[in-house]
Order: sequence, then C-alpha cells, then structure tokens
Amino acid sequence: MSSAFIAVHDLPARWRNRHLFTFADTDFGDGARFLSLLRCWRADDARCDRLHYIAIAGLTPPCDELAAIWPMRVPGVHRIELDAGRVVLTLAIGDEDMLSRLWARVDAFHVGACADPKRIAKTMARFAADHATVSADVSLEGALRASGFESVSTDNDRLVARFAPRWRVRRHEPPIAHEVKTREAIVIGAGLAGCAVTSTLAERGWKITLIDRHNAPARDASGNPAGVFHPIVWRDDSIAARLTRAGFLLALDRWQALERAGHDLKRSRSGLLQIADTNDDAEALAQAIARFDYPREYVTPVSSDEAARIAGVHVTRGGWFFPRGGAISPAAICAAQLAQSGDALTTRMNTQISRIAYDGTRWQVFDTSDVLIAQAPVLVLANAHEAQRLAHLHGEPTRSVRGQLSLLDTSALDGLRVPVIGEGYALPLSAQRTLIGATYDIDDPDREIRDAGHIENIERLANMLPDVARERAASFEGRVAFRCVTSDRMPMIGQLADESLARRDAAKLSGAWPLDLPRAPGLYGAFAFGSRGLVWATLAAELIASQIEGAPWPIERELAEAIDPARFLLRALRHGEITAS
Ligand SMILES: Cc1cc2nc3c(=O)[nH]c(=O)nc-3n(C[C@H](O)[C@H](O)[C@H](O)COP(=O)(O)OP(=O)(O)OC[C@H]3O[C@@H](n4cnc5c(N)ncnc54)[C@H](O)[C@@H]3O)c2cc1C
Repeated sequence: MSSAFIAVHDLPARWRNRHLFTFADTDFGDGARFLSLLRCWRADDARCDRLHYIAIAGLTPPCDELAAIWPMRVPGVHRIELDAGRVVLTLAIGDEDMLSRLWARVDAFHVGACADPKRIAKTMARFAADHATVSADVSLEGALRASGFESVSTDNDRLVARFAPRWRVRRHEPPIAHEVKTREAIVIGAGLAGCAVTSTLAERGWKITLIDRHNAPARDASGNPAGVFHPIVWRDDSIAARLTRAGFLLALDRWQALERAGHDLKRSRSGLLQIADTNDDAEALAQAIARFDYPREYVTPVSSDEAARIAGVHVTRGGWFFPRGGAISPAAICAAQLAQSGDALTTRMNTQISRIAYDGTRWQVFDTSDVLIAQAPVLVLANAHEAQRLAHLHGEPTRSVRGQLSLLDTSALDGLRVPVIGEGYALPLSAQRTLIGATYDIDDPDREIRDAGHIENIERLANMLPDVARERAASFEGRVAFRCVTSDRMPMIGQLADESLARRDAAKLSGAWPLDLPRAPGLYGAFAFGSRGLVWATLAAELIASQIEGAPWPIERELAEAIDPARFLLRALRHGEITAS
C-alpha cells in the first residue's frame, strides 16, 4: 500500500504536539492502511501520544500480520492495544452502519464506496473534529457537501474533503477531552472498580490519589477469595449479553497483559461450565448458540454427559461451556493493577470520605473530620454503596444485597475440575477446598456468617451438582460481603449528571436524551457492579478514561447509555417526577 493516503490527511504534521489523533476507516480491507499508518506513527519522533484507529471490519483477520492480535470471532466492538497502549485499534465488527453506533471525535476519515452515502456523511458530520479531513469515494461528494464538508480536490475516483460547516449540522458536539491544567485524578474506593480505573488512568499519564477507608485494597466485595467470570449468553443478543461480552473480552485482554508483566492473578485456565436451569433452557440455548454462529472458543453447548466429564463430578443436566471463562482472585487483580500504576499512584488508606465539593475547577474530598484530603480536576467515585450518597444521586438508585459464601474442605466436590455456575456456583480453590455460593439477601445488613446461609448454598448447588447434598453445613468457614445493585441490574459507569442544573432545567429536559443532560465536569462513577464486578471493572475503566480524554468510546453508544449513571435521573425527568427547585 502506498502511503499517499497519509499525505492526503496532512500527516504526520497534523498529529504532532497532540495528545490524541483519531483516524476512522470504514473500509478496513486487508488492513494495509492501518499498518502503513502505524509504521508512519512509530517512525515519527514528534508523534501524538496516542493514536486511535477506528475500523469497520469483518470477523476474520484480514492478513497474517494482524492474525495474532485479531479478536475472538464474535460481533461487537473490540479494542486492541499496541505499543504499550499508545496505539488503540477499535474494531467494530459489522456493516458500514456500525460507524453510526459508535461515539468518537474523528480527525481523519477514510471512506470506501458505500451503500448509503447520505447516512454515512451524516454520521461523519456528527463525529468530525474541527477541520477533519476525509478521503472518500467520489460518489460521496454530494452527500458530504450536504453534511458540511467542502471538497478540497478530486483525483480519478477519490476525493479529498474537509469539515467546514457553514451552518449547524449536528445537535451535539462529539466527545471532547475534559480540559485540565494538570492530569490529576482522585479515585475513591480501592476495590475492583477503583483499581481498574487507577491503572487505566495511570497508563495514560495521569497522577492518581486512591483513597479507601480500609487499611488495604480489596477488603469489601472485592475481598472474596475468588470469583467467576464469563459472558451471558441468552436466546437473544440482548443489551446485557452484548455488554457482558464486551466486558468479558476486554477484561481477558487486560488480565493477560498483567500476566505477561509477571503478575499472578490466580486465574483458572480450564474453562467454566454453566448448568441450565431446565432441559428446555439447555435446548433453547443450544439453538441460540448455533443461530448466532458463536465460535467454540467463546461458548459451546454440552450434553449432561459432556458436562459431567468436564466438571469431573455428577451434574443434573447439560448446559454450555465457556472455554475462556473461569475463576480469578479479585484481590490479585487489584494488587497487580496498583503495582503497574507505579509512581503515578499515591494511596490514602484508612481514610473515609464523607463529603465532596467542586470549586469550579477542582473536586475536593473531605474526611469525616471535614479535613480536605485531596483535590483534583477529575474525581471517580468507585466506592460502591457510598457513591450515591457522596454524589447525592436522585432517587438513591442503588441497594445492598448481602451475599454469603461457604468454603468446603475435603468435600464431595473435591473432584471438581472447573468452576460450575447455574443457580449458584462452585469453584475449586485447591485440591480439597471448594468455594460455593452465594446467598442473595436484599437489604440485609447482617455481617455475621449464618448456618442458614451455608444450608441455602448447598441446597441451591445440589440442584446442579447432586453430590454436594451429602454435605452437612454446620462447620463451614464462610465470608459475607455486600453487592451494590441497581433496580435494572446494570452497573453505573460513566460521567455523572449535574443534578442541580438538570433540576433547574427540568421542564426543558422532560424529553431529553442522554447527550442532552448537563454533566458534572470531571465527575465520574464506576459502581453498582452487582454480581459481575469481574466483567464490569475493566470496561468501566476504559469507558471512563475514554470519556475523560475525549477518546473513542470502547462500546456502542446504545450500550454506554444502558449503564449511564444518569439514566435514572433521565427517566425521572421524562416522567415529570422532577420539578424545578
Ligand atoms: C458473595 C459475593 C459473591 C460474588 N461473586 C462474584 C463472582 O463470582 N464474580 C463476579 O464478577 N463478581 C462477584 N461478586 C461481585 C463482586 O464482588 C463485586 O461486583 C465487586 O467486588 C465490586 O467491586 P467494587 O470495587 O465496585 O466494590 P468494593 O469491592 O466493595 O469496593 C468499594 C471500596 O470503596 C471503599 N469505600 C466505600 N465508601 C468509601 C468512602 N466513603 N471513603 C473511602 N472508601 C470508601 C470501600 O472500603 C471498598 O474498598 C460477588 C459479590 C458477593 C457479595
């Protein structure tokens, strides 16, 4: 591939002295354009700090050079990091319409022939940065002009254009970096959520003050001895299924990077088995897996015989197997992420934050004696149950769900080879130690371990692993922790709304969309991870870092809206439940 296309976009000059440069390509083809741009970026001493390349691509790797990094063959948006995270390839698997589902500010577009020039030109106008350049098939000329682009030159079948709208062509500005004098952030909460945000921001050159009320990270929900991770597969490709798929794949990718850096995350490697609740469910799921044409490395249906062979113990029925799912230690992930953050990190343990305030440019956080602990332009609330109180969120959208785990020593499950989930879960911690759980007690604050909880864990599990019914519950060790959940069971991830402004403008916002809402400058949330902290934490960190830096979002906008921490406020505004105060 000639590098003429690079000159068309006035590169490398345009990315010099920039933090971020984003290139979007609707026609990834054999990947040669991406590889040329990558070589050009690597060769340029004055390159931008981070190069984002968004591409609409197919499921199969387009060339040998990209085969090693190509994502699993499942639909959605995949993010691949190269050059220690400084080059980010966002692959949107699907047709040209995928571009319109993303959310990004784009500096340069490469567009091939397309089925719907008007639609693609409108999408480009929504995404274009000031003076964004376009190299496109000439057939797009009229559509581009109508969307605010002016033609610079044409050459045979290609044209070069520039974004120069003479009238308003879009309702909302595309994502833009939060303007800061110093790249400093405060993160409250050192569990899975806070540690992931810390390491992701540290990797991007931010200095972080991480605050927790305990004397060490991962002491609350993230202090369980192990947890399971897997995507959801269901009969339709629901928002929850797409989101957990994105979270699962991103987490796997980042955990592998931590492991390559020498950290032991105590991750199991033999897959994870899900036992269906009923034979009808097993049948329906097998059909869905075939219909979606999921690759075997993602999920595969299993009969009850196959399930028993994989599990190494008796099972009541079949289900499906996730070869890349498994169990992992949340505390080991947190420790690895904090170690990777190095000098960028200052920790303030044994510090309970009771109040936050904004002075117009910086967020300030105060402890229980009202002493100012830290201030920074960016604040991330990763403190589970306490986040809604600190942020005064409308309607207090989160609740607490007590969960009790039981630890079985030398039990009927000693032969268990892989984590098994279904109505409950069982995961082998070592040859004669199995973790089972977990109870789900809404609004129950009791921290004591209860025999009734152990009995419940065993009964639930016996419906899928019948051998466990032989166990007597009385003498088990256990652990109690509290999940933080929302009413729609989706996490709260992203920039918080400016609730007082929204309240003032309630009448105007009664038909608002998420992008219409006023947002609190520099204030983000990563909480309410429910029972899935392991799949949400990495995705949360990536989405929040992208929002802070004005980088392309790692998932479709529709998915980000499903976890938007302002969604309950938005619903209340739409239902007229909020009036101007
Ligand atoms: C019994 C049980 C079993 C589970 N099993 C699984 C599983 O198998 N797989 C899975 O993915 N997930 C599982 N989960 C869920 C998972 O543990 C959570 O989703 C995850 O740990 C949440 O991480 P977090 O960082 O949001 O919260 P936490 O780990 O609770 O961290 C929040 C931190 O904020 C700190 N904090 C709070 N308020 C303040 C304040 N005001 N000032 C300073 N610090 C503050 C706390 O001290 C705490 O360290 C389970 C949960 C339970 C209870």
